[in-house]
Amino acid sequence: VKICKTVAEVRAAVTAFREAGKTVGLVTTMGALHEGHLTLMRNAARDHDCVVATIFVNPTQFGQKADLAHYPSDDARDIELLKSESVDIVFLPEVEVIYPEGDETIVETTRMANMLHGLVRPGHFRGVATVVARLFNIVGPDAAYFGEKDYQQLQVIKRMVHDLHMPLKIHGVPTVREADGLAMSSRNVRLSAEDRAAAICISKALDAAEQLAKTRPSIMALDGEVRGTINSEPRATLRAIDIVEAESLKPLTGKVTGPTAIMISADFGGVLLIDQRVVGPET
Ligand code: AMP
Repeated sequence: VKICKTVAEVRAAVTAFREAGKTVGLVTTMGALHEGHLTLMRNAARDHDCVVATIFVNPTQFGQKADLAHYPSDDARDIELLKSESVDIVFLPEVEVIYPEGDETIVETTRMANMLHGLVRPGHFRGVATVVARLFNIVGPDAAYFGEKDYQQLQVIKRMVHDLHMPLKIHGVPTVREADGLAMSSRNVRLSAEDRAAAICISKALDAAEQLAKTRPSIMALDGEVRGTINSEPRATLRAIDIVEAESLKPLTGKVTGPTAIMISADFGGVLLIDQRVVGPET
């Protein structure tokens, strides 16, 4: 793999592939890589000759400084992992490279950024859209791959790409899970053994909701099912359950009639975990 630190280096590396007629797939990450990230890389490699991975812990998407300071980081380990994948270029910029001196330009999906998880973490999706737009402009990929685990993020990025006429395709990739169902996340390493065991209540709640949704229940009943499962775990502090129309993220009332996203965030000993699933009636 070629390791690039500057915009000029990564552009030169991508141009070399482009001049050889190759297509380019991009995966953006904040490092602390796990199987979820590597699955995105494998999806990109399946569709493209050249895979670019970025590792950048984006300060503008963290509301609380403490959360940013605790974010796990081990570049040497991440690069070793990427060497065994079909990744051609790794872009590892410093903060000043992405946010140059005097920087003042932001990108915001005005509706989608300020709902659901965006209400709990003000400014988060503005930070995400801003960094992803910059990374797209720096790398210029044909397609980029994002996890469905960060469901609102995926919808925000699809909206941004559509609205700004950005010339690339966005692919959503299903959530990769641990054997017991917990969604893989870089944050999982911060869970105590007890909280790690308790955290499976999130995927249990989603399993139960998925079964229930097949019977066209009311949204209130679906909400009650999820809430009940998570609240029965004393170590979990539920932060939000959102049950919304799968693409627009608009709130739903009445009965489950079509593709419905259930988005959960819950705190375990100070570690905020999120998960989601798209459910719906049996067709
Ligand atoms: P992050 O490093 O947390 O910003 O994540 C980088 C990318 O990996 C995002 O598109 C995430 O949605 C995706 N991702 C994180 N965890 C998983 C997972 N368990 N399964 C699939 N994709 C994931």
